[in-house]
Amino acid sequence: MLVVTGISTLVTNDKSLERGKLGIINNAAIVVGDDNKIVWTGESINLPREFASVAINVDGRAIVPGFVDSHTHLVFGGDRANEFEARMSGKTYSAGGIRTTMTATRAATTESLTNNARRLAEEALNTGTTTLEVKSGYGLSVTDEARSLQVASTITTETTFLGAHVVPPESKIDDYVNLVCGEMLTQCTPNAKWIDVFCDHGAFDVDHARAILGAGAKAGLGLRIHANQLQHGGGIQLGVELGVASCDHCTHMNDADISALADTNGRTVATLLPTAELCTRSKFPDARRLLDAGITIALASDCNPGSSYTTSMPLVISLAVLNMNMSCDEALWSATAGGAAALRRTDIGSLHIGAQADFALLNSSSHVHLAYRPGVKLVDAVVRKGECVAGALA
Ligand SMILES: [Zn+2]
Repeated sequence: MLVVTGISTLVTNDKSLERGKLGIINNAAIVVGDDNKIVWTGESINLPREFASVAINVDGRAIVPGFVDSHTHLVFGGDRANEFEARMSGKTYSAGGIRTTMTATRAATTESLTNNARRLAEEALNTGTTTLEVKSGYGLSVTDEARSLQVASTITTETTFLGAHVVPPESKIDDYVNLVCGEMLTQCTPNAKWIDVFCDHGAFDVDHARAILGAGAKAGLGLRIHANQLQHGGGIQLGVELGVASCDHCTHMNDADISALADTNGRTVATLLPTAELCTRSKFPDARRLLDAGITIALASDCNPGSSYTTSMPLVISLAVLNMNMSCDEALWSATAGGAAALRRTDIGSLHIGAQADFALLNSSSHVHLAYRPGVKLVDAVVRKGECVAGALA
């Protein structure tokens, strides 16, 4: 049992509270039961007496649901600092840099891949991320993709097979798509929950993406797609047609893409990854246009060594507010409940009764500081499954 009181602002995302989308309770307390689920939330003054005697008082700080980072690429070898430096000196980003990481990933030992992924997962945890989705996609051979998923499965249950990240240099595209849909899929499925395709210029076209996602669905995997990051294409329309859980990036969108996503009524989420735009000096997606159309938005880090080498969800929230016209409340919702929706989960991303007890204690009295104080360490403690796993509550 864990009882926390003295919470200035408790963001629950609990729809049943009718206190706006964030379900905010002020001067609040929260109780976690022995099954590591939320059993009580409310104003501290109403905290049942049996809980009060063991309560930890957090002295007027805010608590938010743990961040759900629904899009990361944490399994890789090496880094691409040189490429980053070159890009910042004027070169443009293309999907080809993925092959640099492929070479380093194939050369790395399983132990070093695991240690690197763990290091990044720990870094994410310390900034409040309690759930991570992790993709393969830097092995690009049957053995190396299967190995990447095995590493990913030591970090999270939200594992994604992304053999279709780019075509490796030793293969022709049609042969590679057959491999991804055949032997590679068979070897990767045991450690994968999802399948994803990079459907964009320099990666896979709509027909190849349709074949790959179709094979994944047949193998029992959930569907996701990288769509419309580098230029406008048919990725979002394909994603909606196939009923994917999430279309990710959505940087270049026309009205037909917007209405297709809106027509799914939240079944297909648009996952926006503003640190990818930040780190490639690209145009940010227009979140306001999506929100006004009624589209459900998730925010995620896209953590990868090429185009977005950060695990910081507070930074993502900050950018979404400062550069994508989201309100502070909308951005926090999208980084928590939105991420959960992108993973089709209802047990995380929210602090309703019965939810998994995943939350972050901030060092401020309000969640607004997440956007208001970009780049600053704002998380004092992180509770995952009812246990304080980073920092300290008292
Ligand atoms: Zn990605």
